[in-house]
Amino acid sequence: MTTLYKPPYRRKVYWNAPTMTWWERAYLFEILRGLGITSGVFLANMWRWVTFRKGALTTYYPEETRADYAAGNRGKHILTQRPDGTPQCIACNMCATVCPAKVIEIDAAFDPDDPAHPKYPSRFEIDYSRCIFCGLCVEACPEDAIRMIKVVPELPSGDRDVMWLKKEELLTWHPQSDVAKPYPARGGAARTTGAPTGGHG
Ligand code: SF4
Ligand code: SF4
Repeated sequence: MTTLYKPPYRRKVYWNAPTMTWWERAYLFEILRGLGITSGVFLANMWRWVTFRKGALTTYYPEETRADYAAGNRGKHILTQRPDGTPQCIACNMCATVCPAKVIEIDAAFDPDDPAHPKYPSRFEIDYSRCIFCGLCVEACPEDAIRMIKVVPELPSGDRDVMWLKKEELLTWHPQSDVAKPYPARGGAARTTGAPTGGHG
């Protein structure tokens, strides 16, 4: 039986492959350098701690929250509002359907006095004990009615029942406009200001 010739495997060379000096190839020196960096950071933080100052990166949540959350941080849900203060949500249930954790519960209601937006959520709740803050609900909404802002909610609790975020709290986000992402224009320019005045919210 003849054996087919198999050429030796050649690893592909990528255009951005890093090149190493002989110093780096010696391995041991780089290991020692890495250990030196790690030890330096550890000892610096330890020194801060023994002198009653905070370490570099530790935030003692929930007693403390960081002040440097990114503007795009997906912290807390809010329901956007129309100029009259009613929720922009049309209770279509798309956010609840797409939610991978199945934590959004919506009861739809009908308002005969508002022919332009007759369907609205009489109940809109999110279970924050199970929400994974993926943001898919925001992506799925056809009305830009639900957003996530960088505010960090008061999550920790010993009682899961109090970790439901209810519609009333979701509607407390003011101002009603977002400079970073203005509301979609409806028959005109994007809204910039407006205070809630009531309605079926
Ligand atoms: S952020 Fe993700 S898990 Fe949380 S309510 Fe939205 S879709 Fe569900
Ligand atoms: S928040 Fe958006 S996706 Fe969810 S029910 Fe309301 S309109 Fe539909």
